[in-house]
Amino acid sequence: MSAFDEPVSRRRALGLAAAAVGVATAATVGGAPTAEAAPAKAAASSVREVLGRGRKNAVALTIDDGPHPTWTPKVLDLLAASGVRATFSMIGQQAQAYPKLVRRIVRAGHALCNHSMTHPQPFGALDTAAIHRQIRDAQSAISDAAGTQPNLFRAPGGNWTPAVLDAADEYGLTPVGWSVDPRDWTLPGASVIEESLLTASAGDILLCHDGGGNRVQTVTALAAVLPQLRADGLRFVAL
Ligand SMILES: [Zn+2]
Repeated sequence: MSAFDEPVSRRRALGLAAAAVGVATAATVGGAPTAEAAPAKAAASSVREVLGRGRKNAVALTIDDGPHPTWTPKVLDLLAASGVRATFSMIGQQAQAYPKLVRRIVRAGHALCNHSMTHPQPFGALDTAAIHRQIRDAQSAISDAAGTQPNLFRAPGGNWTPAVLDAADEYGLTPVGWSVDPRDWTLPGASVIEESLLTASAGDILLCHDGGGNRVQTVTALAAVLPQLRADGLRFVAL
């Protein structure tokens, strides 16, 4: 299964608005306010964009491409031990295959995010009908397993296009990007993943993976980093 996210990183280093990357028609900075009914022009890349104001020192950990029978339980144990709530961006066919893991995630108080049915890439290259099918089928698969519906959508690879954003909007899903990407799926070593995650500050959305490959580096890095970030005064919130 090719469940890896494509590189969409170094946004922070480049100083770009994270969610604007990959969007063909980026929102105009300082432009007129858009009508409430209009779909988002870009995916959310901060906690405030998803949850609103009043979330002082909040950060969000998102965990993508699972659930996976080997790695998801390790991540869940770690989150429980660290007192951290996270958001799981699930692939629909993984949710279908491992419904007990989906229910365990929900019972632990984590949030669910639709991450397409089969994680095809580049996601934005699919035709509109296929984009809709991917979102709709994943929504059914995750809801059937979880007993509750995701309210969020993340495009595979963070590959946002106007058509993808429109489709998410039609299903009532908030498009969620990220702002800290350690590229853990490239297996750069736990210390490299740790360094990246430790750059997190209030409002950030962190990206890690429990699916798509061997995630021992990710689990090792999270075990080291979560207590440190909490000690720094950051609060982990489920989106
Ligand atoms: Zn992914």
